[in-house]
Parts: sequence; structure tokens; C-alpha cells
Amino acid sequence: MYDKIIDKNDPHQNLKIHEGIEQPDQINRAFAQTFKAKRQLTVEEYVKGILDGDRTILAQAITLIESSLFAHREKAQQIIEQCLPYAGKSIRVGITGVPGVGKSTTIEALGTMLTQKGHKLAVLAIDPSSEKTKGSILGDKTRMETLANDSNAFIRPSPSAGSLGGVARKTREIIVLCEAAGFNVVFVETVGVGQSEVAVASMVDFFLLLQLANAGDELQGIKRGIMEMADAISINKADGDNKQPSELAATQYRNALALFPPSESGWQPVVFTSSAYTLEGIDTIWNIIQEYVTKTKANGYFYNKRNAQNLRILSETINYHLTERFYNDEKIKALLENTKELVLANKISAYVAAQNLIEEYLGSK
Ligand code: GDP
Repeated sequence: MYDKIIDKNDPHQNLKIHEGIEQPDQINRAFAQTFKAKRQLTVEEYVKGILDGDRTILAQAITLIESSLFAHREKAQQIIEQCLPYAGKSIRVGITGVPGVGKSTTIEALGTMLTQKGHKLAVLAIDPSSEKTKGSILGDKTRMETLANDSNAFIRPSPSAGSLGGVARKTREIIVLCEAAGFNVVFVETVGVGQSEVAVASMVDFFLLLQLANAGDELQGIKRGIMEMADAISINKADGDNKQPSELAATQYRNALALFPPSESGWQPVVFTSSAYTLEGIDTIWNIIQEYVTKTKANGYFYNKRNAQNLRILSETINYHLTERFYNDEKIKALLENTKELVLANKISAYVAAQNLIEEYLGSK
């Protein structure tokens, strides 16, 4: 009887469905469900999902932005393009301070306050060290536990691959998608070590610096440049025995900031104290941000700053693509090694060599 069913000469006989024989339901439905979810979505499906506020689809689209695969990046660009008209409506806040100052605890406290007020909050991070440490900021799932389980909050660790410039570019793109998904407050967290603040400042409306009392600037690694970038400084951990010293530190910072030239925003940076433990001063942070937005929208600075940021993205993107094409050009790749040797042997100056390579590249176009 089996002869009828099994064709011994057919190597694929196991896969054959024979007419007239009822097939069992072989598919595990749970598996089919997972399988379905893993199917590559189309650009339109991604965009619809994002605009519908679907966090799973938003997270998947962000993964495309972070992917090093060209096809993924291409798709991501199309998604971003279609989301752009719906973006831009959030308040973007940069939050910095040395590790341990209380950034994540403050974000957890402030963020929870905001979601309780009905805001939708996205928390992103820029961590220049994440390539080495596999994401020290926000990488640890135990941080911001309440927010992580809050349906009105979306937390995403720092993109880990690439240079600071690359990470910053991806974060800007992620902001666009989060805004299109309806998040109306975006926090970008970074460690206070220098370059990453400049990157964050280039993508946010408002910059908050967290500091500690009793820790010299030297100790906190805070450069004058970072203080100049801050729209507000909060002396954190102003609780218990630390309350008095924090007030004192706040006065010192106020005095120091008074020596800085006024900013073109017309905004005088505010210094205050806060505690993510007692929650004292946490609402102050939000009040100040709102005050800043109202004031700078009224005097036009808010929009000018965003325009300037946009133009900066334009020129950065041009630079990025031109450089990438140049270095990936086969002819240049072949010439570059030899040119380096000539420069090192002082046979040609670095300036002339660079000029020659660029001429060579343009000539081949
Ligand atoms: P981050 O590295 O800047 O994100 O700092 P964390 O938020 O992880 O905080 C570092 C440590 O400081 C943790 O042990 C927190 O519990 C503690 N901490 C954070 N905020 C406060 C605060 O307002 N008061 C006090 N006393 N401790 C705090």
C-alpha cells in the first residue's frame, strides 16, 4: 500500500502531499505567528506602523537605521523620508553629566512624572564608549525599570557601531522616527566627557547638565565648553546631608555663569538643585524647559536653532557621502597606499599629495 504513497525514486518524497490523503495540521501555530512577525515589512508597512505608534515596528525600523547592511540603510532612508513630514513636533532635551551623577535616576523620575501628565517620552542615548563597553549607557536593562515598563515611554540604548559622527547621525534619524510615532518629548542622554556633548547639542532644543556638589570641575571632567552649552544646570543628589552643600554649589555655579557672555537665545542659563530620591526640584526641570521653549519660540531662536541644525545635517551628510565615495573608489584605494609611503619618505608634501589624489578622483568621474 505504501508503494502508492512513497515513490522510492523521488528524493523529495517526504515533502510530497498526495492527493486524497488528508494532511494533518503540521504547523505549530505559535511558530507560524513568530514566523509571520519576522517577515520583512515593506516600507509602507513600516511607515504605517510607526505613524500608528506601534512600538515593535518602531524598534524594528530603528534596527534598520543601525544596521550596517546597505539594503537595510536604503530601506531606512525611505522610511525616514516618509516620516519626516510628521516629525519635528517634540521638545528635544539633551541630558549630560559624568557617570554616577544620577542621569538615569533623574530621567526615570522626570520621565515618569511626564508620562503621568500624559506625555509620550522617548529616551535615546549617545555613548561614544559603547563600542568598547557594548553600551554602557542604557545598556543595562535594570536601569530605568519603571520607564522601561511604561507604555508611554520608549527607551533605546545608544547605537553602538561606528564613529561618534555615525552614532550622532543615526540618533538624529531615530529622533525623526520617534516623533513620527507620536513621542512628544525626546531625551538624549550622554556622558559628560566632551565630544559627545557637541554632538548632542547639535540635535536638541535644550541642554541640561547634571552636576554634583563637592566635586570640583576637574573631578567631574566638565569643561568650560560644556557649561557654556548648558541651558540649565542642576546640582543633583540635593538630599540629606548633601542638601546644604548643593545649595552652595548652585550659588557658585550661578556666579560662574554670570561671567559668561549672554547667549543669542536671550536665555540666561538657570542653576538649581534637584534630587531624584526626594523628587524635590524634578518638576523644576520640566518647568524650566517649558519656560525656555515658550521664550525662544516667541523670539524665534527656537526655530533658528533647528534651521541651523538642519543645515548642519545637510553639510555633514554631503561631507560624509563624498568622503565615503572617495575612500571606496578603487583607483584611490590603489593610489593611497603608495601616496602614504611617499609622504612618509618626504618625497611629496601631504598637501600636494592630497590635492593630487582629489584631482585624480575628480578626473575619473
Ligand atoms: P548615571 O550614571 O549618571 O546614570 O547615574 P545613576 O542614575 O545610575 O545614579 C548613580 C548612583 O547615584 C545610583 O546609586 C543612584 O541610586 C544614586 N542617585 C541618583 N540620583 C540620586 C539622588 O538624587 N540622590 C541620591 N542621594 N542618590 C542618587
